[in-house]
Amino acid sequence: LSALLGVSRTTTINAYRQLEEQGLICTRVGSGTYVADLGPITKTPPAVPWSQLFAPSVNIQLPSILRELIYSAAAKDSISLAAGMPDPSLYPLNDFAQFFTSQSSFLDGADLGHTPTEGYTPIRNILSTMLTEKGYGITPENTMIVSGSQQGLYLIAKVFLQPGDYVIVESPTYLGAIQLFSNSSARILSLPSSGPLPFDLLEDYLIRYRPKLFYVMPTFQNPNGRVMPLEERRELLRLAAKHRLVIVEDDPYGELFYEEKPPLPLKALDSYGGVIALGTFSKMLFPGLRTGWVVAPEPVINRFALEKQYIDLHSSNLSQRLLYDYLHQGLLDNHLALVRTEYKKRRDFVAGALKRYCSPHLTFSIPAGGFYFWCSLTQDILTRQLLHEASKTGVSFVPGEAFYADASGAHEFRLCFVTQPEERLLEGIKRLSKALQVLQTA
Ligand code: PMP
Repeated sequence: LSALLGVSRTTTINAYRQLEEQGLICTRVGSGTYVADLGPITKTPPAVPWSQLFAPSVNIQLPSILRELIYSAAAKDSISLAAGMPDPSLYPLNDFAQFFTSQSSFLDGADLGHTPTEGYTPIRNILSTMLTEKGYGITPENTMIVSGSQQGLYLIAKVFLQPGDYVIVESPTYLGAIQLFSNSSARILSLPSSGPLPFDLLEDYLIRYRPKLFYVMPTFQNPNGRVMPLEERRELLRLAAKHRLVIVEDDPYGELFYEEKPPLPLKALDSYGGVIALGTFSKMLFPGLRTGWVVAPEPVINRFALEKQYIDLHSSNLSQRLLYDYLHQGLLDNHLALVRTEYKKRRDFVAGALKRYCSPHLTFSIPAGGFYFWCSLTQDILTRQLLHEASKTGVSFVPGEAFYADASGAHEFRLCFVTQPEERLLEGIKRLSKALQVLQTA
């Protein structure tokens, strides 16, 4: 057939394989290949081979550990200590419901058309004022509203990265950033982040690889909760200015502090102008708003806006309008005071319960803010095994490996202490303790 068609043998074999996968032909060993019996013409056509149609760049397998996590979290009566979500019972829904029903412009739809890609102008103004009060030297033109800071990160990757570019990340770091940078075919350089930044290694990376970006969470790092001290922030900025390094500062948890206020963000300390800042209302209020922001020099914002148009034209006008009313009425501060008090109680409660039920198998430090305990297991226990047992006892967490670009983290995991009320947290930790005991006696 190859000779007849004038194509190579491999092409013919591949064509046969595809026809077979689509159920159009069948092969019998020793007998040959036949056109399949497709039955009467009314028979349902073979399913569309969707995964074969995906572009190669998106056709990647979800790592098995994450699949395991998703299944275990979905199990009946499982307690999820995995997702990084605020407690839904603390969402300020009454305020949002009241704004929605009390405004005539919502009720007659007048204000629910399109809004500028960069964001609803009043919310950009109020955000710029809020951030200026925190020390950012910016104007509304330096801000852009995005559909969650995840979208901001996506825009950064899209606008700055091409395959093969180097990006520096902390190690461990936010899972969503690792996935996104990998998806952009960037090469990831890991910088240890459990203690002070290793500036020698960072400078070595800067000289040797000329990385495009350094993605960093200086305040309540996800997952390890670390806060970079002020002097370290200054040192990082000095080095960045020297090497013209672009820093992406991600700060979703900065307002969720349970001890003293954290140091100023890098963006507020940045005099050389190379910091792009990401923020979000997902952790302070609720993630379903899908409202976050990017702060950057104006030409960069303009480029992001162009790119964002291709994705969604603009972020939800409804969310932006409701959020504007909420901020304009000055309600955020009271809400933050409320959740700080509640989450601090839960943090201390979980620390006590982990010590009581899970030591000496795991160690952790107490985070001064944010949502997570970052736990280390003793060397004889693998997180992967614990996750497997925990899914049977009905509790889930995020295994450490998800937070590393280089497959470290085999003995670490992240627990979120804010989403569940105390009695569920306690039950979750007891289940975790049961899973640990199974591993110890195995
Ligand atoms: N960055 C970090 C560090 C996060 O933890 C998260 C949420 N888990 C995000 C970005 C994305 O948040 P969102 O898109 O909801 O604003």
